[in-house]
Amino acid sequence: MIEQAANLDAADPLAKWRGEFLLDDAIAYLDGNSLGALPKATPDRIAEVVRREWGEDLISSWNTAGWINLPQRLGAKIAPLVGAKSDEVIAADSVSVNLFKLISAALKLQSQNGQRRKVVLSEPGNFPTDLYMIEGLESQGLAEQRLADRGDIESALGDDVALLMLTHVHYKSGEMFDMARLTKAAHDAGALVLWDLSHSAGAVPVDLNGAGADFAVGCGYKYLNGGPGAPAFAYVAQRHQSGIEQPLSGWMGHAKPFDFTDEYAPAPGVDRLLCGTPPILSMSAMEVGVDLMASIGIAPLVEKSSGLSEFTRAAMAEHIPELECISPADPAVRGSQLSFRHENAYELCQALIARKVIGDFRAPDVLRVGFAPAYVRYADCARLVSELRDMLDSGEWRKAEYAERGAVT
Ligand SMILES: *Cc1c(COP(=O)(O)O)cnc(C)c1O
Repeated sequence: MIEQAANLDAADPLAKWRGEFLLDDAIAYLDGNSLGALPKATPDRIAEVVRREWGEDLISSWNTAGWINLPQRLGAKIAPLVGAKSDEVIAADSVSVNLFKLISAALKLQSQNGQRRKVVLSEPGNFPTDLYMIEGLESQGLAEQRLADRGDIESALGDDVALLMLTHVHYKSGEMFDMARLTKAAHDAGALVLWDLSHSAGAVPVDLNGAGADFAVGCGYKYLNGGPGAPAFAYVAQRHQSGIEQPLSGWMGHAKPFDFTDEYAPAPGVDRLLCGTPPILSMSAMEVGVDLMASIGIAPLVEKSSGLSEFTRAAMAEHIPELECISPADPAVRGSQLSFRHENAYELCQALIARKVIGDFRAPDVLRVGFAPAYVRYADCARLVSELRDMLDSGEWRKAEYAERGAVT
């Protein structure tokens, strides 16, 4: 296994890109699906934005450094990674806030079209914030939440469903929905579709335009390497852009923010999703991460992602059969991650981290490893398997210190 990994690394066309990240050679970082690694160019870029653009050029940088267009510029760079046109994506706020804006916009669009539909359909076990945001709108009397298991989604698309809202790659299991098929099923039933691409963008094939998707959101700090708390992105299909209204009608989404008029008039296009002043430091960091992914290109990223996860799945099955893999065996329906169930998944994860093999734990019993294709090596995957075998045999994970839980697991 170790030798096979070395051969795969030697033949890997993306191997050189790891050098673009500030990653200790000794670390096997298998958690880029939670927090992407730090690109080498980010600290200098941040320093430049702070010292020169802010410190020296002060407020003129809104124009001279292009700060005011950063949300659109970032959106245009993210667009090809998700199969969208450059004017269909914008960087703004968090995933949660963008979900609120887009769920509301979808419900409003349905009512404008004379539909009394209020149901937002999703699946139980979806990422918590996605469900919580529906609940919030429900408590405002604007939405009605309905959950259906993944196998029952199509049959749950009744004539009261306004919006189908799903996470493309499941954060815990790594299962990937067939975006084109479900989008079509929703449209056939008169519903709109909102995809959460948090675990997809930058790692798996996404074709929003090809699938005919209406709306999408995605995360900036996972595979896009934007840094902790990086802004998220939002997508609105061109055909909906002039028709949507979103409730966070802040001045940055106004057609003419610097006219300072009393009445709100939405900006044309996807710009109307903006609310307040964009966080320039965060967005500048994110631009470096997105630029890196754009330079590598989505096709090679996708290919390496499936190579890494398939190598790991096979090696785990062979060497650690006692850990049940809950991710699909077929790479075509799996995201860039693998999840394994074990009663002591938390302790195993902590013991691995002590050995510089970094994955994460998802309650109650899942050990999750992610494969950020820009910097993960096959050798990292082989190390996961060999360290895990070693510590299961020695019982090292039973040490009391590995059972202590921090605020963030
Ligand atoms: C990471 C993630 C989020 C994060 O939401 P924030 O509001 O940006 O914290 C949302 N949805 C899914 C599916 C995620 O994986």
